[in-house]
Amino acid sequence: MSAALADLIRAEIAKAGPMGLARYMDLCLAHPEHGYYRTRDPLGALGDFTTAPEISQIFGELLGLWLVQVWLDQDRPERFALVELGSGRGTLMQDALRAARMVPGFADAAQLCLVETSPGLREAQAARLAGHQPSWLDRVEDLPDLPLLVIANEFFDALPIAQWQWQAQGQAAQWRERGIDLHEGQLIPVLTSAWPGADPIWRAPNAPQPGDVFETSPASSAVLSDLAQRIARRGGAALVIDYGYEEPESRGWTADTFQALQNHKPVSPLAEPGQADLTAHVNFSALARSASATRVAPVLSQGSLLRLLGAEARAAQLARSAPERAEEIAAGLHRLTHPDEMGLLFKAMALCAPAAPPLPAFEPAPLAPSGETS
Ligand code: SAH
Repeated sequence: MSAALADLIRAEIAKAGPMGLARYMDLCLAHPEHGYYRTRDPLGALGDFTTAPEISQIFGELLGLWLVQVWLDQDRPERFALVELGSGRGTLMQDALRAARMVPGFADAAQLCLVETSPGLREAQAARLAGHQPSWLDRVEDLPDLPLLVIANEFFDALPIAQWQWQAQGQAAQWRERGIDLHEGQLIPVLTSAWPGADPIWRAPNAPQPGDVFETSPASSAVLSDLAQRIARRGGAALVIDYGYEEPESRGWTADTFQALQNHKPVSPLAEPGQADLTAHVNFSALARSASATRVAPVLSQGSLLRLLGAEARAAQLARSAPERAEEIAAGLHRLTHPDEMGLLFKAMALCAPAAPPLPAFEPAPLAPSGETS
């Protein structure tokens, strides 16, 4: 498998010259025959990584209730698309829909749309979500023209990025794209074309230093921009959770977050194309810029969001009803929320139409005018 994909990549480079990192990532992850996500279930102990919904049911339940609250706040649209980007094994959505049963009408109004590339994971999703008649889509462009309630956990980190490295050689100081070339039959990292046009990205006052890197993800921006325009027009909201960062306001910044994981361990991203999970941290500032059609709430850490949504109370309730699982439940809560675990590294960003009511947890509702109680 990997040999076949490596051969394809070598042939493309031999023909067309050095390949940008984004193209390399796209081939490794999404090649129809040999791509990483097309050929396996990467999740869980036997896979390459574990995700929040696989750690604790609390995650999907609370996010499900968040979606329900948005639906209530936006006057219960009688038909909407309940959308998940990259649904993994379907665990998050299964937990979300179970929790949503508390509010009659939500599930009946929802048309479940799963944007998913992996045939194997589509099967797992079908098994878990059979009662909800999901439809599967390859791309957000194919979503129905309805209000959208969108959830995306660890989706954007899997979309291709480009990297730009500052090269200072005499007069030719410039940002150049990182890519991959062939040297005696081996794939090697190289710098390729220069950043086109002016330098809109680097933030003063620090001057870039040789070797500094920044990342862009045109694929991520395109997906979020499309969703944002739909939400601005038809209503709904989107909740994006992922590991990532916000750009510092006041100084130059670098971020080289590209990584390859195989069997839960870092490996060289060029060693076995298609066999390792390739990811990058999500630039939430860049995502927010691409969603300018909407109102984007200030980013919360995953730990803060889950606590605001009642994670501790839910864990206590679960432990009371299953005392024999109390330790496992507490461990799951810790892993999801503690700052040394997923609590700080993972961030949550929510957006809605500019005039929509405040987003639960992200935008505290205005205080009632004095004299009124609520
Ligand atoms: N949200 C799930 C899975 C995260 S893993 C969870 O939290 O457990 C990333 C998911 O995105 C997988 O389901 C993967 O198959 C899917 N995916 C990756 N790239 C994709 C793409 N370009 N289009 C659609 N789905 C994609």
